[in-house]
Amino acid sequence: MRFDILTLFPELIMAVSGSSILGRAQQKGLIEINAVNIRDFSRDKHKKADDYPYGGGSGMVMMAEPIYEAYMSIVGDLETKPLTIYLTPQGKLFSQETAKRLASHKHLVLLCGHYEGVDERVIEEIVDEEISIGDYVLTGGELPALVLVDCVSRLIPGVLGNEGSSADESLVAGLLEYPQYTRPYVFLGRRVPDILLSGHHANIQVWRRRQALKRTLLKRPDLLERAGLSQEDLKMLEEVKREEGLSD
Ligand code: SAM
Repeated sequence: MRFDILTLFPELIMAVSGSSILGRAQQKGLIEINAVNIRDFSRDKHKKADDYPYGGGSGMVMMAEPIYEAYMSIVGDLETKPLTIYLTPQGKLFSQETAKRLASHKHLVLLCGHYEGVDERVIEEIVDEEISIGDYVLTGGELPALVLVDCVSRLIPGVLGNEGSSADESLVAGLLEYPQYTRPYVFLGRRVPDILLSGHHANIQVWRRRQALKRTLLKRPDLLERAGLSQEDLKMLEEVKREEGLSD
């Protein structure tokens, strides 16, 4: 899968995308992350890519032309136009479900705004979808773009190495994940739950499911409504509610 990120600050993208799992996935040829410097496409002799807003007001606005030229340098020769996303606080909230949908694409173009944002006309011209990573305002779209790239990339087969490791994860299966433990067995007097050392896989599965239900009930009860729980889950959930004094 290929990600082309249109940005005024490619170094922000490069600083993150070359390390850890994303770095390894690129080395293995599973994903390709390109930071395209919008400034390189400015026709201004000082490589200016932003200007004052028409109508007045504070801050600067990213100019349409360099963004459009940068975009055309990516898609100009392509037969199929890649899905183009503008990261903006005005977009639809990003979610695991959205990440799953985007992971089915072979190529995404991500536009990162900065300052007061981007000239509306280039958004109208090239953008298919607007995505926000949360109801707060950041200085630029680079961190949101990296959030999206990270989340989508780990859904691509081979990127995580162990495909099973994402199946039970929080939000993937509709619930929050059960608690995880590793060595040492005792940490500051706290022991790992005995069941996890029993070697009894079926019992461990039941314990984990119960913990996942309990965590979701206590931390994100809103998720339970659409988690598609089985009869067995509902029975366990009732028991958990009784234990926690939360029965209706
Ligand atoms: N003036 C814009 C507005 O009110 O909608 C906000 C501009 S913001 C300071 C600068 C850039 O950061 C935006 O163009 C966008 O690319 C990015 N950005 C900021 N917050 C974001 C968020 N929550 N999700 C995605 N992108 C965000």
